[in-house]
Amino acid sequence: MLYRELAAFFERLEATPGRLGMTSILVELLGQAKPAEMTPVVRLLQGAVAPDWEGIEVGLAEKQILKALAMAQGSSTKSEETLTKLEALYHEKGDLGLAAEAVVGASKGKQASLFGASDLTVAAAFASIEALARTTGTGSQEAKQRLLSKLLLEASPLEARYLTRTIAGRLRLGVADMTFLDALAAWRIGRGVRSVTDMEDAERAEQEALRATLEKAYDFRSDLAIVATALATGGPDLVAKLGVAYGTPVRPMASERLKTLGEILTKMEGRVAMEYKYDGLRVQAHVSPAGVRLFSRRLEELTAQFPDVVADLAAHFRGRSLIVEGEAIALDANGRMRPFQDVSRRRGRKTDLDAAVKEIPITLFLFDCLADGSGPTMDLPFAERRARLAGLLGKGHDRIRLSAIEEVSDVAAMEAFFDKAVEEGAEGIMCKDPRAPYKAGSRGFAWIKFKTDYTEALVDTMDLVAVGAFYGRGRRAGWYGAVLMAAYDDEAGVWRSLCKLGTGFDDATLETLKPRFEPHVAPKRPAKVDSEMEPDVWFEPSVVMEVQAAELTLSPIHRAAWGLLKPGAGLAARFPRFTRWRDDKTATQATSVKEVVRLYETKG
Ligand code: ATP
Repeated sequence: MLYRELAAFFERLEATPGRLGMTSILVELLGQAKPAEMTPVVRLLQGAVAPDWEGIEVGLAEKQILKALAMAQGSSTKSEETLTKLEALYHEKGDLGLAAEAVVGASKGKQASLFGASDLTVAAAFASIEALARTTGTGSQEAKQRLLSKLLLEASPLEARYLTRTIAGRLRLGVADMTFLDALAAWRIGRGVRSVTDMEDAERAEQEALRATLEKAYDFRSDLAIVATALATGGPDLVAKLGVAYGTPVRPMASERLKTLGEILTKMEGRVAMEYKYDGLRVQAHVSPAGVRLFSRRLEELTAQFPDVVADLAAHFRGRSLIVEGEAIALDANGRMRPFQDVSRRRGRKTDLDAAVKEIPITLFLFDCLADGSGPTMDLPFAERRARLAGLLGKGHDRIRLSAIEEVSDVAAMEAFFDKAVEEGAEGIMCKDPRAPYKAGSRGFAWIKFKTDYTEALVDTMDLVAVGAFYGRGRRAGWYGAVLMAAYDDEAGVWRSLCKLGTGFDDATLETLKPRFEPHVAPKRPAKVDSEMEPDVWFEPSVVMEVQAAELTLSPIHRAAWGLLKPGAGLAARFPRFTRWRDDKTATQATSVKEVVRLYETKG
């Protein structure tokens, strides 16, 4: 497959907001890729050279990209004048890809007769981008510039747009993982893309069964390329054989919320296993003879930042293979839980780790077991998994402990456990259905969280995505004064506006808003953002922020749940306040529109 064919698909995808429309385009694209091209095609669609958790970033800095553009024009990278002109072009276009497209268009225009259409293949483009991403060490910046300029010299203007965006780490076609899995299923079945409601029963069953197999494999392997390649080379049977692998992160299970402990007890049919909800960092730990690897909630590798946890796990579980999950917490000298910020500081630390380990030692409170030496345990009931976890841990370890747990069957006991949890510094409790399996990658009522916030009049916090910003006035002039926030509509693959967020920021945070959002600025409203409100600057949906609101109300302005509760109205969060950054979440893991509707209904 040629890269220019892929670039044409990218252009169509970019202009298509709906999930069904995107799925159709993807099915067409899959139809043109050979099995051996699946990996490069999937990676390039995601704008990456490896799954996120491998931590291999392409992201060449803006300055270097401008220098590569200068080289591609045949100008000197040392000429300040050239660089200033290119910088002006970039600001005029508002996007590096569009700037590269213009540069290549101008130089090719003059020499069009010398060039036929570009014959860069997808495999070759991917190989070059991968080489660029993996180039490190001294002199690597210049080497990367040369690689990019070489690619641009051979590229058509449209190819230049997407190659540059990919290399800048800013491709963002907005293809949600679930949309890609829909496309894989529809492509394999080969009857075109239709809504399941338009299908015959047998067709629907076949499509849904394959879709479920694909999603399960993805939940185990967290890599769409592996799933797509297995489907293309060995069909659904090979996909079904993709189990968990030690060292490869499993997509985490997530919880729902309910308003009262009584409702939780009813939902779990009278028996609840309750645990403390620790306010720390979720860690998925893989231990095997190959070593220990730690992953965050959004599946980023944390191994290097927590050498103490790695050493503790390696020593305690020596010679065994297991996958366990827990919450990493900093405890003070008296064994009390220190605030979330402390463990978060550990996470951000890349240098001087010895001092960090001494300053903020970490204790891991384990709460689940996804695999033990005998293989995956995720299909076992939670009570059985907990028993295995306790067995694995044996007599325990000072800094690797089991989460506090109690199984009860009445509300009074739940209240007592909740009070004890809060008194000891937990942010609430997690209620778990003792009979339920571990459902990787899904949010469901097998886990229900109950936090202190719920007992107050306010709405629980939501994790919303920044989609734009407004310039500040007066004291905030020159800074962003407020951010436009959206919830994720996971059915449509679109972010829908919910509120304008301008409070809860201290001066230090306000000052950093602009630089923090800089890499996500978009030249116009991205097709995947639904908002009537026009901010001064648009963002690609990427950054997740925790927001606490006083209430949710019907609104003629905001677009979340538009027309769902009342014609001509959506939902808005009133008096929203910023509470913290949620760097541990991706834009598709943010609070969904469905959850917002549920919050509105339970608080209404
Ligand atoms: P929140 O914003 O409320 O922390 P979340 O959206 O990050 O939640 P949820 O799945 O809704 O994720 O809540 C579960 C989170 O609570 C887990 O990701 C984990 O980090 C944390 N947690 C703390 N203690 C436990 C526990 N005992 N069992 C499971 N998760 C726990």
